[in-house]
Amino acid sequence: MKSIIYIEKNPTTNMLRNVSLELANKAYSLMQPYNGEVVGIFTGDTLPENCDELFKYGMHRLIHYTNPKLANLQSTAYKNIIMQMIRAEDPEIVLFGATHNGRDIAPLIASACRTGLTADCTQLYIDDYKDKGKILFQMRPAFGGNILATIITPEARPMMASVREGVMLLPEEKLNHPVKTEPFTIDFKDEWIVNEFLEIAPKQKKVDFSTADIIVAGGAGIGNKQNFELVRQLAHVLGGEIGATRAAVDFGFVEKDHQIGQTGAVVRPKLYIACGISGQIQHRAGMEESQKIIAINKDPNAPIFGIAHRGIVGDLTEIIPTIIHYLKEED
Ligand SMILES: Cc1cc2nc3c(=O)[nH]c(=O)nc-3n(C[C@H](O)[C@H](O)[C@H](O)COP(=O)(O)OP(=O)(O)OC[C@H]3O[C@@H](n4cnc5c(N)ncnc54)[C@H](O)[C@@H]3O)c2cc1C
Repeated sequence: MKSIIYIEKNPTTNMLRNVSLELANKAYSLMQPYNGEVVGIFTGDTLPENCDELFKYGMHRLIHYTNPKLANLQSTAYKNIIMQMIRAEDPEIVLFGATHNGRDIAPLIASACRTGLTADCTQLYIDDYKDKGKILFQMRPAFGGNILATIITPEARPMMASVREGVMLLPEEKLNHPVKTEPFTIDFKDEWIVNEFLEIAPKQKKVDFSTADIIVAGGAGIGNKQNFELVRQLAHVLGGEIGATRAAVDFGFVEKDHQIGQTGAVVRPKLYIACGISGQIQHRAGMEESQKIIAINKDPNAPIFGIAHRGIVGDLTEIIPTIIHYLKEED
C-alpha cells in the first residue's frame, strides 16, 4: 500500500509548512500496519530548506520537480506536474493540507483522477469495507458540525482527503528514516504558466497561535467590546494569545483572525481559558485538545464545563479582574 502526501513550504521563509510534517506522520501511522510506503511530492521553485525533517516523521521518499517559474502558485502547472507524479507512483491514498494552496490544487487533482475528495478531515483510518478490502475512512464534521460524517471512496482510486493544519498531532519522538530525495523528470511546458503575478501583498498575521502556550478566549458572554479588554488584560498578564468564538467576532468584539473553531483556527495550547463561552461543537472542534481547559461561565449547565478540567461558575466581569489582581500581586 502507498500513500502520497503533498508537501508545501512557506514561500517567505522557504521552510516546510507544519501541515506537511503532520501529514507525513499521519500517513506513516496509516501505512505502518501494512508495511506501506509514504511518498512526499513537491513542486515549486526550490526545495524547502528543512525538507529532511519530513523523514523524521515517517516519510520514506520525496520526489520533486523544481523550476523558478513555479515560485508562485500556478494551478495548471502544479496540477499537471502532480498528476504525472501520481500516475508514476500509483498510490492508494493521496493527502493534502487544507491550506490555500491545497484547497486550490486538491480538487483539480481529484477531478483529473475522477475520484472523490473529502475536505477538512479530522480523523483518518484504514479498515475493511464489505468486499472492497482495506479502504480509507475519512471523518469530518458536517451539517454545521452537528454530525460527524464518515466518508469513503470504495470504487475509485486514489482515495483523497485534506486535513487542516494543527488537526493531526505530531509525536514527541522522531524516527530515523534515511533521507531519500529523487528529482522527477518532466517535459515542462511554458503554456502551463497561465497566471501573471503583478504584485504580492503579504497579509500581516496579527495572531500566532502556533507558538502560544496560553490562550485566553472570549465569547458572546463577554457582553461588549469594552469588556473584551478584560480578556486582553488577562492574556497580557499571562503572556498568552487572545482567542474568540465566532459569536464574539460577529458581535465585533475582536477581529476574525482570533476566531477558534471549525471555521477558525485549530489550537492545542498548554492552557486554554474560555471566558463567557458556551462550548458549542463548532467552537470545541478548534480547542478541545488543549492540555488544560479552564472555563468561566455564569451558567453551571453550560456545555463548556463538560470538557473543562476546571470550572468557575460566576460573572466574568467580577472573576477576570479578581484573577488579574491576584496574578499581579504574585509578581
Ligand atoms: C457552519 C458553522 C461554523 C461555525 N464555526 C464556528 C467557529 O469556528 N468557532 C466558533 O466559536 N463558533 C462557530 N460557529 C458558531 C457556534 O455554533 C456558536 O454559535 C458559537 O460558538 C457560540 O459562541 P459563544 O459561546 O461565544 O456564544 P453563546 O453560545 O451565546 O454563549 C455565551 C456564553 O456566555 C455565558 N455568559 C453570558 N454572560 C456571562 C457573564 N457575565 N459571565 C460569565 N458567563 C457569561 C452564557 O452562559 C453562555 O454560556 C459556527 C456555526 C456554524 C453553523
